[in-house]
Amino acid sequence: LFITIEGGEGAGKTTLIARLTERIYTETKRRTVRTREPGGSPIAEAIRGVILDTKNTKMDPRTEALLYAAARRQHLVEIVMPALQRGNIVICDRFVDSSLVYQGYARGLGVDQVWDINRFATEDCMPSLTLYLDIEPEVGLARIADNKHREVNRLDLEGLAFHRKVREGYLQIAAKFPERIRTLDANQEPARLADEAWLLVKKSLG
Ligand code: C5P
Ligand code: MG
Repeated sequence: LFITIEGGEGAGKTTLIARLTERIYTETKRRTVRTREPGGSPIAEAIRGVILDTKNTKMDPRTEALLYAAARRQHLVEIVMPALQRGNIVICDRFVDSSLVYQGYARGLGVDQVWDINRFATEDCMPSLTLYLDIEPEVGLARIADNKHREVNRLDLEGLAFHRKVREGYLQIAAKFPERIRTLDANQEPARLADEAWLLVKKSLG
């Protein structure tokens, strides 16, 4: 089972993934492969470093989109596909939807064009379930401002308008793929959010 977690800055993806992984184990005794994008494998982490480096202010939006797709491809082949083949549950922090929203919608490259390069990268390997953690950007950004352990990245230089577009993009994509993408209210308590997420995962496990 391939599950992806999506959301804007400070939505609480990392916290939810930790809780959900634990919950899956206590309920089913199944182990989960927990991973993230961009990154998750040595080559893909190296690409992540280039994309997110605050010094790379000249990064062209198409270059950025191609690098995300390249990191995704490598991570998919090296980590996700083998884990799925072994029969593991895979939970990935971000996947194709992040590119559709950040590069396609918020950066303005066009969702369809970004889809095209990602179809090439993924050969249509898609998650069965995507949990989108919805939150107002103001709330999410305030949360990350409080988190001193978080590394600063190039996206932190974007203003509120960009993050509003990101949320708009997610809501549109969630409406377009209602079967796969389930929207969760990320304002609620972490424990309740994890409960809601678990119910959806349980359904997908059948
Ligand atoms: O998931 P995380 O917040 O760690 O992502 C790292 C950064 O990369 C974030 O600032 C996110 O907005 C950005 N990102 C992006 N486009 C993607 C995936 C992530 O701009 N496709
Ligand atoms: Mg995170």
